[in-house]
Amino acid sequence: MAATPTPKCPIRIGEPCTLCFPGASGPQDCGLVYLVQSDPEWRDQLADKRREVRSREALAG
Ligand code: SF4
Repeated sequence: MAATPTPKCPIRIGEPCTLCFPGASGPQDCGLVYLVQSDPEWRDQLADKRREVRSREALAG
């Protein structure tokens, strides 16, 4: 039995996708994700944030 993993929201780092964006069926067709990915500055900020969260997780064990 294949378990479907809950997709993580790429924008709200560390949180599962709650389908908060109207019309989205997951991160793959979320308009907000698309918007952020298409803007270089936002994408950079997101990458920074992701690094920050990851290093915090590493510290916490
Ligand atoms: S719908 Fe989009 S913004 Fe909302 S939680 Fe899911 S991936 Fe994130």
